[in-house]
Amino acid sequence: MGMRVHVVEKRDIFSRVNILMLWQGTADDLVAYGAKVFYPKFTNRHMGASPLHLGTREIQLVLLKNALLLGVSFSYGAELVGVQAPDPSEPSASWRAWAFSPKGGTQTHQTAGGVLDFKPNKQAEYSKGAGMGACNMVQATSLDATFVAAPGAAPPDGAEALEFDALVLAEGEWSNTCKRLGFTKNIDKFSTAIGLVINMVRDPLEPKTKDPNMRSFTVKPFDPVGKLLTQAGVGFEFAEYLKGETHYIVVTIKKATLLKKKALREDKPGSELLTRVNLDEAALMVLSREIATIIGLPETTAFCDFHGAKLFDFSTRARCAAPFRVLGVMPGGAQQGTPIAADLEAHPYLSREETKFFERQLSASIDAVKKCDTEVKELEEAIQATSSNLANMKGALNDAADEMVNKVQALVSARSSGRLSSGQRRNSGVQDDEWEDDDALPNVSSAGEASPDQLAAQRRAEYGVADVSDANPDVEIEEARLEAYKKSMIELEKKREVQQGFVEANEQKQAEWLERVDAAAGGMAHPVPIFPVGDAILEPFWPQGLGSNRGFHSALDAVWCTHVLHEEGLEAAMLERNFWYDLLLLGPWNPGAGLLKNAEGWRADPMSRYADGAVVRTKQNYTNPQSKRLFRGDGATPPRIAKLELKGAGFL
Ligand SMILES: Cc1cc2nc3c(=O)[nH]c(=O)nc-3n(C[C@H](O)[C@H](O)[C@H](O)COP(=O)(O)OP(=O)(O)OC[C@H]3O[C@@H](n4cnc5c(N)ncnc54)[C@H](O)[C@@H]3O)c2cc1C
Repeated sequence: MGMRVHVVEKRDIFSRVNILMLWQGTADDLVAYGAKVFYPKFTNRHMGASPLHLGTREIQLVLLKNALLLGVSFSYGAELVGVQAPDPSEPSASWRAWAFSPKGGTQTHQTAGGVLDFKPNKQAEYSKGAGMGACNMVQATSLDATFVAAPGAAPPDGAEALEFDALVLAEGEWSNTCKRLGFTKNIDKFSTAIGLVINMVRDPLEPKTKDPNMRSFTVKPFDPVGKLLTQAGVGFEFAEYLKGETHYIVVTIKKATLLKKKALREDKPGSELLTRVNLDEAALMVLSREIATIIGLPETTAFCDFHGAKLFDFSTRARCAAPFRVLGVMPGGAQQGTPIAADLEAHPYLSREETKFFERQLSASIDAVKKCDTEVKELEEAIQATSSNLANMKGALNDAADEMVNKVQALVSARSSGRLSSGQRRNSGVQDDEWEDDDALPNVSSAGEASPDQLAAQRRAEYGVADVSDANPDVEIEEARLEAYKKSMIELEKKREVQQGFVEANEQKQAEWLERVDAAAGGMAHPVPIFPVGDAILEPFWPQGLGSNRGFHSALDAVWCTHVLHEEGLEAAMLERNFWYDLLLLGPWNPGAGLLKNAEGWRADPMSRYADGAVVRTKQNYTNPQSKRLFRGDGATPPRIAKLELKGAGFL
């Protein structure tokens, strides 16, 4: 493709012993890269139920050998420690990346062999954005001036300065450069999820594991091996044993098991759980040995020196909000030459569509509040109507009761002036049994200070007719209706409050976005795109086993966009990158889900890898108002793809 490529890698040895499950397409692709030539035991054919797999180290070496054959340069044990802006007065000057190899090497969680260094808990860096729930967070960062150096700045002593016109970041999910270049990441948060990785030395002479029947396998709690693990008190959801250059076991282990087996000292909240002080390393090794023995490895099998047993937290998953960022310098004015960066706002069409999205979001939330207001009003009217209906009903019933009381009272006074005749009793409307006991007839008490209504109620009470209105079934129904309306009102007021919160959050997001649009309005000189790939752009949910399988594609997509950059320019490259990232996010990323074409035709061009149906669906999303943020219009589809007559409409 005519590019000059330089890889900077801070590891100086290929130390990654863990083994990865591969999808058919990835395994086929690796065969095309010569993996079978370099590792004759590697196969892309299924052997019984054994999953296809290859060690991370071996995958890296396959790719390295190919890259060397293609003329790629490498700097090992060198860390990307900064980028330097070109001199704005020199139109042909380039950005430079500083690759630094400290004496004694770099030591990070990726290069260290400790039991928790594998994947650090990152939650401390995440915050809740405006209007976000407990499961959604953001990692908001801004351009770090200590990382992006001005034109005249001197690189660290001994650093290599590598010119670039596109920077691809494959730094993993804990990418420092992403943070320092101001990429915003959206974070999905799950409940506590812990993985235990066990790496053991494979002795080729060991008869048990030499046995070809001892193959790689996956384990679920109800499988025979799963039952043995459960009986031994190992609570887990999924485990796998992969046999490669090493023995590799990974278990999604339950926190309760780690506590019961004393590998974790105490149950602690969130980020305090998986810490060095809370971990008993010796107990973890005992537990790991127990698991390895149940899985079927001899008790004599040694742990690897590097990452022998390791816990990691996969309770969160991060993804870049935008798939690229453009780095440039202020083109003029007092701050000419100052480094600046932008993402979607750097692309005229995508920027306009994003502005429309924020407008739609805000107006939808304002409409939702208005709808609540209308509902509140309707409910208030209903409450008022029901209350007055109820009052009328009660009034009518009380009037009838009062009439009854009057009648009884008249009879009482008639009786006090002499016994009533049976004819008078009959005409009184009072039932015969009510006359049985003279003492049952109430005494009418004095009015005292009571109001007319109170007096009436008191009189009804004394004559035993006070409950007449309350006990009436129609009144009961009306009262229940009123009660229900009042409850709905409380809920509606809460809903309105939440919706009002969304309005404020959307106003804030819109204001932040418009600020970025304003900042980008002046344009930038010397723009270069930054493309994160692999876990740096989209971290997998680890048990899905799709990290590398999908990582191959995000990396190739970025390579293709760099090619487009050279052929058609930056705007076209941004549009392509955006299109393929939208497709990548939608997935579905399951082997066999039909998202990918057969690997034999795979090239850097994503059209050769993604199924036509997935491409069509991404295009359709852009013109479907239901797709919210993705409703970006026809112009979001790169023209070369818009022109194609693709089959597979509606995909899945
Ligand atoms: C336990 C476990 C099991 C997994 N199983 C599978 C599986 O079965 N199948 C699968 O497909 N995926 C699996 N994955 C996921 C897979 O390992 C990752 O998705 C994949 O390794 C990501 O590759 P990457 O190149 O994006 O990042 P990484 O593999 O994290 O590589 C990043 C590299 O960047 C280097 N680096 C970082 N910062 C700098 C810097 N500033 N300068 C220079 N170099 C730098 C690091 O040294 C590192 O080598 C698993 C992951 C884990 C943790």
